[in-house]
Amino acid sequence: MTIIPSQSGNSKTSGETGGGRAERRPAAGGPGKVLRSEVLSARESASDQRVDLSLRPINLVDYIGQSRLKSMLEMSISAAKSRAEALDHVLFYGPPGLGKTTLAHVIANEMGTKLHLTTGPSLERPRDIVGLVHQLEEGDVLFIDEIHRLSRVAEELLYPAIEDFVIDLTSGKGHATRSMRLPIPRFTLIGATTKAGMLSNALRDRFGFVCRLEFYSLEELSKIVRRTASILSVEMTDTGIEVIAMRGRGTPRIANRLVRLVRDFAQYKQRSPVDAQLAAEALETYQVDASGLDPTDRRLLEVLIDNYGGGPVGIDTLAATIGEDSDTVEDVYEPFLIQRGFIQRTPRGRMATPAAYRHLQRQAPLTQLSLESLKAEEDM
Ligand code: ADP
Repeated sequence: MTIIPSQSGNSKTSGETGGGRAERRPAAGGPGKVLRSEVLSARESASDQRVDLSLRPINLVDYIGQSRLKSMLEMSISAAKSRAEALDHVLFYGPPGLGKTTLAHVIANEMGTKLHLTTGPSLERPRDIVGLVHQLEEGDVLFIDEIHRLSRVAEELLYPAIEDFVIDLTSGKGHATRSMRLPIPRFTLIGATTKAGMLSNALRDRFGFVCRLEFYSLEELSKIVRRTASILSVEMTDTGIEVIAMRGRGTPRIANRLVRLVRDFAQYKQRSPVDAQLAAEALETYQVDASGLDPTDRRLLEVLIDNYGGGPVGIDTLAATIGEDSDTVEDVYEPFLIQRGFIQRTPRGRMATPAAYRHLQRQAPLTQLSLESLKAEEDM
């Protein structure tokens, strides 16, 4: 595996944390002093990176969940291998922490080829792209995380590279400018993004597969928690596993982080195995509630309900009121709140659902409740 250094300080390549959310170590007084928003952030932290290598599945069989995506990949990988060709280019999109980078590792491993990792923002100048493609060998996998942040110049240089496996080079200036087209090895581009909508159509259309990663079910996340606990040698009962999986926001990265926090708590308290009570006690210390919501999620719902009468309200206004930036609310908090049915996205802005009112133990207005009963009737 080659990691191409990032100039932008992106989390995947530089060892820094995404979005400036550095994880602090538990304070000396006990394990409960980690900043709340860090506990449930789906973005990768420095300590995630440290344990990542041991937790990352390397084969498709070990990759839990995303079953439709997995069977499609299984077929395509086996077909590409039998033709001794590179796999078609793949785009993965979906919220952070769902396993896009992991899949890139799995694909390279299954294809028996080398993986090169980089990020969109680090490929700013033409020579970044040229340097990159020169390292590629026949069949290699090139993973570009945050591909929606590629510069226009880089994107245009990539088009012929991914379509015809050639690269256009120019030298000299003014009248003396010369251009030449050089062949490059056939490779597989894997792009990953949390914002598929920000990708140009031209780029999106050049991927053979465009695959969306879904949040994991409770059963799938329980399997991931069980596997992580076993790799980290933490003894857990079935109910302990379930409590952690229920609060893992359908996201492996978060579930894995919760396992580590619970392990620290159990060690500090000198208790083993981790059962439901111990897991719940630990996660309560970190203010993760039974639905996997942290104080920022709850604040977001509270503001939506108490300050804006349940909405609709624009994402920028909502983000400004809770003191977060809109991108973080949109990428990190909102997808899970929508998936859990606490927030609804409407053309006029975000709205709190009756489930959100119930979760915060507030009385939902009649209009909300009648909408819910109308929907229930329609579903019958
Ligand atoms: P993304 O690239 O989508 O942000 P990653 O691929 O970095 O997410 O996954 C985050 C972590 O979650 C990885 O370290 C890996 O250990 C774990 N993980 C992700 N998907 C799975 C899966 N399907 N099965 C087991 N562990 C997973």
